[in-house]
Amino acid sequence: ETYEPAPGRYDAMTYNRCGASGLKLPAVSLGFWHNFGDHTPYEQMKQLAFTAFDNGITHFDLANNYGPEPGAAERNAGRLIRDYFAAHRDELIISTKAGYEMWPGPYGDKGSRKYLLASLDRSLERLGLDYVDVFYHHRPDPDTPLEETMGALAQAVSSGKALYVGLSNYDGPTMERAAAILDELHVPFVINQNRYNIFDRTIERNGLKETANRIGKGIITFSPLAQGLLTDRYLNGVPVDSRIATDGRFLHGSDLTEARLQQIRDLNAIAAQRGQTLAEMALAWILHDGQVTSVLIGASKPQQILDNIAALKNLTFTPDELSAIDSIAAR
Ligand code: NDP
Repeated sequence: ETYEPAPGRYDAMTYNRCGASGLKLPAVSLGFWHNFGDHTPYEQMKQLAFTAFDNGITHFDLANNYGPEPGAAERNAGRLIRDYFAAHRDELIISTKAGYEMWPGPYGDKGSRKYLLASLDRSLERLGLDYVDVFYHHRPDPDTPLEETMGALAQAVSSGKALYVGLSNYDGPTMERAAAILDELHVPFVINQNRYNIFDRTIERNGLKETANRIGKGIITFSPLAQGLLTDRYLNGVPVDSRIATDGRFLHGSDLTEARLQQIRDLNAIAAQRGQTLAEMALAWILHDGQVTSVLIGASKPQQILDNIAALKNLTFTPDELSAIDSIAAR
């Protein structure tokens, strides 16, 4: 079986420059954190990947530990690439990361040079690739000198195993210190990956958003839909096929308090007035000020990807809409 991607796949997508770099990313990217482990049928992953690529989503985001089991998402992505995307490798941006626990003992976690470089080799084996486009340090490690971790990222690039590097879950000041080290080493550090959505404004408070824009680095935001809360998924209870009901690792029934649900209902009403779904409005809200390169969505169904891309049709908010969203979020 061969896969013929849609000929018009580049027509409707917006590509944003990643900070001041030469790399452009689709305004909507697809993450493999959920639904690409060993509990998901290969057919479902295939349809998600095809729908994404057919609609101009050129960026698939991975990490060493995505699964379950850890490593499974990279293995499954590797199978998809081998089976269907090999002829399109140069049209794809594949990222992976190391920074969370991956194997037992002192060398399978955090930020040492020992861990990062070994992990990247294992990731490339699972993915069946010679290089990834972006290699990230997944989270800051206060116990390892920043120089050591950044030196490992530098080696990932100089050895040809990564084209660009990124930092994930760093705050503004730490990222700026890391950027200075990477600059000195002439490492193409182009992107920050952080959580950001209507409910979680951390990067506005910890300096990451301001710093990245000031020094010309891109931002890709994970959990832009708060794992599905900022959609119509939970408006009428907890569907049996939803992340809360089927997964239970990172999103729980207890996250859906009555107060949360009321915020979701009120945001949904604003979205409806705008002629958008809540998912579309939540993604448009992240992109509206032009300071975020890409929203990194997850999806369990191809239709969700299509709905999420439709967000790009209207990224404009009135001041009244913005302040209404802020006051609902602040409750
Ligand atoms: P989202 O906030 O986009 O949540 C995705 C989930 O929301 C989907 O799996 C689906 O859940 C639901 N959903 C998506 N679109 C719709 C829609 N249109 N209508 C209704 N429901 C919808 O992102 P994730 O939390 O999944 O994170 C995305 C990516 O970010 C990850 O895959 C990973 O690549 C990255 N990430 C990075 C982290 C880091 O530390 N760097 C941490 C976490 C994520 P359902 O199953 O209910 O259908």
